[in-house]
Amino acid sequence: MVAGTTGTIGATGKPSPPKTTGEFAKLSAIEPWATLLVLQASPFCNINCDYCYLPNRTSTRRMSMQVLASAIEKTYASDLVRGELTIIWHAGEPLAVPISWYEEALATISVAAPSQANIVHSIQSNGTLLNQRWCDFIKRHDIRVGLSIDGPDFLHDLHRKTRRGDGSHRAAMRGLQLLKDNHIPFHVIAVITGEALGHAREIYDFFETAGVERLGFNIEEVEAEHAVSTLGAGHEERVRQFYQTIFENQKRRGSITIREFAAAEQKIRSGISLREFDFPWFNEQVRPFGIVSVDSEGNFSTYSPELLGMSLQPYGEFCFGNVLRDHFADALETPKFRQALADIQTGIKRCAETCPYYGYCGAGAPANKYYENGSFASTQTLYCRYAVQMPLDIVLNDIESALNLTT
Ligand code: SF4
Repeated sequence: MVAGTTGTIGATGKPSPPKTTGEFAKLSAIEPWATLLVLQASPFCNINCDYCYLPNRTSTRRMSMQVLASAIEKTYASDLVRGELTIIWHAGEPLAVPISWYEEALATISVAAPSQANIVHSIQSNGTLLNQRWCDFIKRHDIRVGLSIDGPDFLHDLHRKTRRGDGSHRAAMRGLQLLKDNHIPFHVIAVITGEALGHAREIYDFFETAGVERLGFNIEEVEAEHAVSTLGAGHEERVRQFYQTIFENQKRRGSITIREFAAAEQKIRSGISLREFDFPWFNEQVRPFGIVSVDSEGNFSTYSPELLGMSLQPYGEFCFGNVLRDHFADALETPKFRQALADIQTGIKRCAETCPYYGYCGAGAPANKYYENGSFASTQTLYCRYAVQMPLDIVLNDIESALNLTT
């Protein structure tokens, strides 16, 4: 989903989608309901990773409380929220904005949201700005935390550098240690680049020693400003070997839950499968308004969060309105939204018709389809091959081998 930060895999194991009502019933069988609200407190990031896709990460602009209140009010007024809503503070380093801003923001949200709202806050951070005051704040508000660390220093510091060109590993590990000292649960997301491929065992050892219990891998993606991945053509067998080594270590040692394998196993064991004509309701990246993204100025979009504000042909700026003046439902009638919806639908249909992984994957990520294939109306990408198909194959092979042994 986002280089170096977050990542989702669709399979959630929900038994069925909720009923669509109100304005959004115009989308008929597509069942839009929001589970994620991605808010950009500021585009600013204090470090300068070379694989980052964000174009404005030197801007210190901050979201106003008026924009924030409107985003919350419109999310709930749209009847899109049917249960828990996760707010992800993202698209910039969330901890680069002061605690005092978040104190005001959380108070604003509690006034703007309905009294029965069930909101969970989440941050994905580079960890370098964590201190005791942040830990106290995180504990006080029960905020879910993810850190972005790419493994040992010799891998992490290749790409995750400060603006002066120094590595950020030492500061990130200091942040990780503070979370542990404060008994704050966290997960880690590691970006896998070409340089990491021969080091799967060292990466596993490193995270195990660091006390990381939940780990996800984001393969280096082709997105927006980041136009080339070091994992391009010709790396498939080495990526498979990487995943296989990680899988064998986690199976034998049991010390770390790996997101990709856990998702694959959950999906396989749940027995949930889509037929060719089913809409992949569990994949919030293709479900209209499954993810609502709002930038620091109030501009909003949906689908993959990293698309917000990007200039994409034939849509122009990928933004469907501004929370200060528009309701989310207003977007439904705009030519831009209808065109994006139709193209994403075509991509889903093509995936359903051609890909044996469709029932598990649910048609992938529109952002990756656009940046790798030039169109939402397309199918396979590097991302889905590496992040969806390979982990599923490895888990399936393992389950099948175990069955053969016992029969
Ligand atoms: S082609 Fe890729 S995105 Fe499409 S269903 Fe298959 S794995 Fe998913």
